[in-house]
Amino acid sequence: MPEHVDSPDCGCWGCIEESILRLRAADALGLLAKERLRPDVVALGEQAPVEYSLIDQLQQCLTNSAGGANVGRSRPGLPYDVVASEMWTSLWLELRNDVMDQGGFAEPDTPQRHALAILELLPTVDATWLEQKTPSWEWWCQAIRAHVYPERKTPVDGRCPNPECGQDRWFSYDEDGDRVTDTALVLTWDSGRVSGMMCRCCFSSWDRGQLLELAHVLNENLGQILAGKAR
Ligand SMILES: [Zn+2]
Ligand SMILES: [Zn+2]
Repeated sequence: MPEHVDSPDCGCWGCIEESILRLRAADALGLLAKERLRPDVVALGEQAPVEYSLIDQLQQCLTNSAGGANVGRSRPGLPYDVVASEMWTSLWLELRNDVMDQGGFAEPDTPQRHALAILELLPTVDATWLEQKTPSWEWWCQAIRAHVYPERKTPVDGRCPNPECGQDRWFSYDEDGDRVTDTALVLTWDSGRVSGMMCRCCFSSWDRGQLLELAHVLNENLGQILAGKAR
């Protein structure tokens, strides 16, 4: 390994490690706060869809639960996504502390804005600080994904009842970057029982009580699944 030299082009081990760390931090903050164009999920020449940033996806969990303006959401007393709400608040406070740590404060006071502000400061922030913070930002990426796409889900055929969406297929990538496709709609589970349904395209969600009402417009098999007679 070459000796460290005082130059941005230095190729010593310490400098290589530090630049890898900055790339990891940039990846995590980018996923948290930036939307991504996905030209890879459509045929050549078609308009590429935009995938929301992870923070926006988390926020969608909030606006799609009680108080949201989605179809089937007109009745009061529907469950509120408490987990998403708590995650959003603690991520917001953490990123806000991080940006203040670096002597900045970004307006408006949103987690997205704070993450972008740190991203801008990234080339010059202290490496030791970054070493402490990066694992936490990476953890948030994982945690939001795990919440937005729950572990156990059963694909179910049908078009998303949200009139602004209406998709029946969903496209994404696996860890190897290979394109995967599945139904847009999935049933979510809680302790061995269907707890609700969500759309992987627009992140709308419906609780168990609403599913029977939707069954006849969506999928006749849904009633059977809810009754435990089919899977
Ligand atoms: Zn060096
Ligand atoms: Zn949808």
